[in-house]
Amino acid sequence: MGTVEPLVIKIAESRIDPAGVQKFMEKYKSTEWLQRVRPTQQNDSEFLIELAGRACYKSYGVGLNPNVTKIREDSRDYLTNVLAKGDGSILEHATVTFALLNVSRVFTHEIVRHRAGTAISQESLRYVRPQQVSLWLPPDLQKVSKEFEESVQEVTNAYHQLESKFDWEKMPFEEKKRVTSALRRILPDGIATNMIWTANHRTLRWVIEMRTDPSAEVEIRKVFDQVAEICIHDYPLLYSDFTKAQLPDGTFQYTPKYSKV
Ligand SMILES: Cc1cc2nc3c(=O)[nH]c(=O)nc-3n(C[C@H](O)[C@H](O)[C@H](O)COP(=O)(O)OP(=O)(O)OC[C@H]3O[C@@H](n4cnc5c(N)ncnc54)[C@H](O)[C@@H]3O)c2cc1C
Repeated sequence: MGTVEPLVIKIAESRIDPAGVQKFMEKYKSTEWLQRVRPTQQNDSEFLIELAGRACYKSYGVGLNPNVTKIREDSRDYLTNVLAKGDGSILEHATVTFALLNVSRVFTHEIVRHRAGTAISQESLRYVRPQQVSLWLPPDLQKVSKEFEESVQEVTNAYHQLESKFDWEKMPFEEKKRVTSALRRILPDGIATNMIWTANHRTLRWVIEMRTDPSAEVEIRKVFDQVAEICIHDYPLLYSDFTKAQLPDGTFQYTPKYSKV
């Protein structure tokens, strides 16, 4: 048995098209805002969200909309006000994609319950026939780690025993897929697998809050510790209201001032 640790890698994020933004700003007679704000923004996602939000009231400057007599000039003030008012829909314009590696089927069962604003590609255990069964050892089983490993080894041996009864070389691919899927039924829920998970920032804020709560399962809290750290570091304005507190098991809880925007 191989022992693994869940690992989060950010692999993609929303990007703007500079030429398209320039053209749009010219149409809105707002190039002055673009020239002032763009250089101050640390990332495209926050810029895109602010740009989309300001399109609602034409609030790139005073005078574009006669009903608007003053605007929030500063991006931090603008986005904080969006969070405080609960205008979270504009956060849906930008997404982040993560590779979630060495996560269990316990974890994947839980994360797929978050439906709104996500996209998921999960390693198929119908197509992929595991050669080695790797697991993460939960801290609560540390004191019985030897017995845990022996149990997993027994299951792995039984799996390979069953697997060896089939002549894989002679099987057409469709049959291999069917038998692989049938065999996986004896594999443990804890088997390490991989997933690509995309979520928009409205969803990310919600899932970080829910899944780093002390009542959430320990593995998902470990994974969302990593997700939260990446988001807070890479998108400081969108996550500026989160506070971090260490839990007794060493994981962290991330709590936003503005919940469920
Ligand atoms: C600590 C913890 C324990 C849990 N225990 C259990 C359990 O024992 N059994 C169990 O089955 N599940 C359990 N869950 C899962 C939980 O019930 C939710 O399914 C999961 O957290 C997804 O959250 P969500 O409903 O906010 O959905 P998301 O997809 O994250 O949606 C975000 C928000 O969008 C809105 N929304 C999304 N879809 C709809 C819709 N179709 N209609 C209307 N509004 C919508 C809602 O406001 C929702 O809160 C648990 C979750 C946690 C965090």
